[in-house]
Amino acid sequence: MSGDILTIKNLNKTYSGGKSSNTVLNNLDLSIKQGEFVCILGPSGCGKSTLIRCIAGFESFEGDIICNGKTVKKPGIDRIMVFQDFNQLYPWKTVEQNIQYPLKVQGIKDKKRLKSISDEFLKKVDLDGKQKFYPHELSGGMKQRVAIAKALALKPDIILMDEPFAALDAMTRNNLQEELLKIYNEENITVIFITHNIQEAIVLGTRVLLMSKKGEIVIDEQNPIAPPRSPVSEGYAAMWQQFSNALKNENTKGRQ
Ligand code: ADP
Ligand code: MG
Repeated sequence: MSGDILTIKNLNKTYSGGKSSNTVLNNLDLSIKQGEFVCILGPSGCGKSTLIRCIAGFESFEGDIICNGKTVKKPGIDRIMVFQDFNQLYPWKTVEQNIQYPLKVQGIKDKKRLKSISDEFLKKVDLDGKQKFYPHELSGGMKQRVAIAKALALKPDIILMDEPFAALDAMTRNNLQEELLKIYNEENITVIFITHNIQEAIVLGTRVLLMSKKGEIVIDEQNPIAPPRSPVSEGYAAMWQQFSNALKNENTKGRQ
């Protein structure tokens, strides 16, 4: 369909090991338009990471995933993942080297150009001045900022984020949410963002999905709240209640 940066049709994913098999995603369909910020909520173990890993090309699957007209078969720089883990940077490279390395692999050799790209994206994530630091000299929030800068610098079609702020304290998390939104508004990027946190999903997402324990998308809503969104925005409480009830429902189902 025109305008779709990502189309998923009939996605099925079964993990099999030995005699047992576990079907996690069942005929899942999803289309995402360029420029959307799609947040995905769902109970633990429902298949959120599996879905985003399939999109990233990290998993084998049945069905079709098409990104910007191309069939997804393996990882590619059109789809870059940012993880929850603070250790997604090379510990032996400085902050700027971490950002430059994948660009070098992509064939950018000119040192001045590499420097200007890493400087540009470090500025965007508010880390100007930290170019020569090593990952172990940074806080968790700063490491996540570097991971975001590294992803952005590659100019992917879609940025895939699997609970990137889940391990951060509340204040750092709020700061990073604000920064990510600022970047989203400036850069014309498309984001798929997995979170456990309903507030995070409503504040960030232009569209919010809920996955069920069966690995199906049971709610798919355009966010009706005008940005900048916060818990005091009109309509926030109603939306929070809707997703909170649906999540509770899913969690009770799982315990039967
Ligand atoms: P979520 O991210 O929503 O918490 P996951 O996608 O990580 O859920 O996991 C969904 C289901 O798939 C779980 O039952 C989990 O145990 C199973 N699973 C995930 N990864 C693997 C794997 N590599 N091998 C076997 N089963 C897996
Ligand atoms: Mg997960």
